[in-house]
Amino acid sequence: MSEQSIGTRCVQAGYTPGDGEPRQIPIVQSTTFKYATSEHMGQLFDLEAEGYFYTRLQNPTNDAVAAKIAALEGGSAAMLTSSGQAANFFALFNICEAGSHIVASSAIYGGTYNLIAHTMAKMGVESTFVSPTCTPEELASAFRPNTRAVFGETIANPALDVLDIERFAQAAHDHGVPLIVDNTFPTPVFCRPIEWGADIVTHSTTKYMDGHGVGVGGAIVDSGNFDWMAHAEKFPGLTTPDESYHGIVYAEKFGQAGAFITKATSQLMRDLGSIQSPQNAFYLNMGLESLHVRMPRHFENGLAVASYLSGSDKVTSVRFPHLEGDPYHELAQKYLPEGGSGVVSFELAGGRAAAEKFMAALRLAAIETHVADARTCCLHPASATHRQMNDEELVAAGISPAMVRFSCGLEDSADLIADIEQALAAI
Ligand SMILES: *Cc1c(COP(=O)(O)O)cnc(C)c1O
Repeated sequence: MSEQSIGTRCVQAGYTPGDGEPRQIPIVQSTTFKYATSEHMGQLFDLEAEGYFYTRLQNPTNDAVAAKIAALEGGSAAMLTSSGQAANFFALFNICEAGSHIVASSAIYGGTYNLIAHTMAKMGVESTFVSPTCTPEELASAFRPNTRAVFGETIANPALDVLDIERFAQAAHDHGVPLIVDNTFPTPVFCRPIEWGADIVTHSTTKYMDGHGVGVGGAIVDSGNFDWMAHAEKFPGLTTPDESYHGIVYAEKFGQAGAFITKATSQLMRDLGSIQSPQNAFYLNMGLESLHVRMPRHFENGLAVASYLSGSDKVTSVRFPHLEGDPYHELAQKYLPEGGSGVVSFELAGGRAAAEKFMAALRLAAIETHVADARTCCLHPASATHRQMNDEELVAAGISPAMVRFSCGLEDSADLIADIEQALAAI
């Protein structure tokens, strides 16, 4: 499969029906699976045989769609989760525990920031946030003896900073820990972080992969490249016996290619139960079938809107990594040579009041917290997601009161620009 182009994999990977079997992935809408003997079922519970027994852990529909995402990212194994939040939590918690420490880029999704900085802190997992543009010395000094993972986003939501994946991977590997990259915005159509040294890739499939605003979901992909046994003392969960499965050692029994996902499935899904519903996995697969056709259009619209906005005297700044002059233009050329995402952020002259007037005047673009939908949507963080903050607090958090996040859909860019033009005129 991996020799096929990314587009062919979007359409075909993960599920190949045999003679007379359904052409489309069957939705296995069943909580449980029947066995002839207790002995056979016992083997499944001991992880001695492969098979399904309860959809809280695994389901055939999910596995087919996860296999497609693994093929797209060039990974060795993958799993679906109920949300992007669950994907990032499971990816981190699979190798972290009370007393561990995470190094994370500060340019990440707000939900992931809260997860790491607050919720995981309550579980005893410490963290250090570094600027994605920090010097090599600053990055190296963020590590501690108890660091277990490095985390970043390929294109940060909503900051749109581009992660220097090779540099962060090198720093992680120098300290004997994996790099986890959230690749939600570019999707594997535009960037495959594993090719640049990332060890684990996560997704909010809710965004472009689904692409139609249908189902919340997430995915975790393992590259199979990280040698857990070489750093056995750091990752006892993978390299020492799991007493809840009669003392199996994941890294030995399932090898480098399978240990991470098998552990996350058989321990974390078993105990925390955040699986994607098979119905949502089916919808997700429908989105994946056209991902390679949709992404270039989202990007093309983003570039057209960003270029238009940068020529307007009512706009004080525009952020879009592929725009000439963007601080991340060079990294975008390197990691995202064919495109990034359809998300543009910009600031309006006239501050908060101008942004509010602009948003209210839009006719085509809808006000939503969502991004990465087929229909253009936009958000004024200062009056929505960050409304509890005053202007001073917003600036301290790196968000201007005049900032608008604009997620270009699949419409014609001329219509999007006409909508923006009339909304700017209304300010
Ligand atoms: C939306 C998002 C998440 C969270 O995903 P949900 O599916 O909403 O739980 C995580 N990372 C990024 C980059 C996102 O955009």
